[in-house]
Amino acid sequence: MSKVPSITLNNGVAMPRLGFGVWQVDDEQATTAVGQALDAGYRSIDTAAIYGNEAGTGKALAASGIDRDELFVTTKLWNADQGHDATLRAFDTSLAKLGLEYVDLYLIHWPLPSRDTYLDTYKALEKIHADGRAKAIGVSNFLPEHLERLLGETSVVPAVNQIELHPQFQQGAARAFHARHNIVTEAWSPLGQGKGLLADPTIAQLAAKHGRTPAQVVLRWHLQLGNVVIPKSVTPSRIAENIDVFDFELDDTDLTALAGLETGSRLGPDPAAFDVV
Ligand code: NAD
Repeated sequence: MSKVPSITLNNGVAMPRLGFGVWQVDDEQATTAVGQALDAGYRSIDTAAIYGNEAGTGKALAASGIDRDELFVTTKLWNADQGHDATLRAFDTSLAKLGLEYVDLYLIHWPLPSRDTYLDTYKALEKIHADGRAKAIGVSNFLPEHLERLLGETSVVPAVNQIELHPQFQQGAARAFHARHNIVTEAWSPLGQGKGLLADPTIAQLAAKHGRTPAQVVLRWHLQLGNVVIPKSVTPSRIAENIDVFDFELDDTDLTALAGLETGSRLGPDPAAFDVV
């Protein structure tokens, strides 16, 4: 079982560089899948209030018997709960569902710029952080312009921005912005949701060259770029495959080939416009 190395966040907290995502996994299935991921060696789990599986995730965490301080649990505040007081209430609900006394990372799920509530929301996250109930706080789907505002008007620099990122949508400008401000880039849909990306001939070629699978090549690419990744699978063999990426290295030619896969197209919504609550 390969051990996952950590990255140190801007507040000194260690975060595993690879975790397990549970979007579109129902509550009951989450207990099984998270249990399998923990057995396979994952220690970081990425859930969200809107996924509806915090309780199922929490059950698996409790059943695992793994010490709390070896786990890294992320959850996210849903859009409907933005605003200072609503955020504090939503956080209590998430914590109760997870059955935890604290989370390791709490994120604002989307910026919702049209509503203009993310500053107040973030200030509630700062309180949660100050109270020790989230070891680190951050955001998701924030564009550099939203981060600029947070940096100007709040005190705690977000530890993480979790954004859509995969070889077909590489987010060069966002990654450079994060690096300048000591914010870790966490890639969601790191495998491009499986779909076309894993069938790409360039990736197939690199997989053959290294004796690895396409998913492993893509995850290795992320890690070499410095991204934190949270691939999802509910298939035990894939769960194991996706964490087995710490004993090979892509070379410069491989990285150049992968850089050529950028399409500029997102799979998910544009954060500037997304305002579903
Ligand atoms: P992903 O890129 O991790 O792809 C998952 C899909 O790829 C699986 O459903 C499966 O079909 C396929 N797959 C996984 N492993 C494979 C393997 N080894 N070989 C072949 N196919 C494989 O997509 P995702 O679930 O969208 O993203 C991962 C996680 O990111 C989510 O579970 C969630 O935790 C997070 N996420 C966050 C946001 C956000 O707005 N913050 C949005 C989407 C996802």
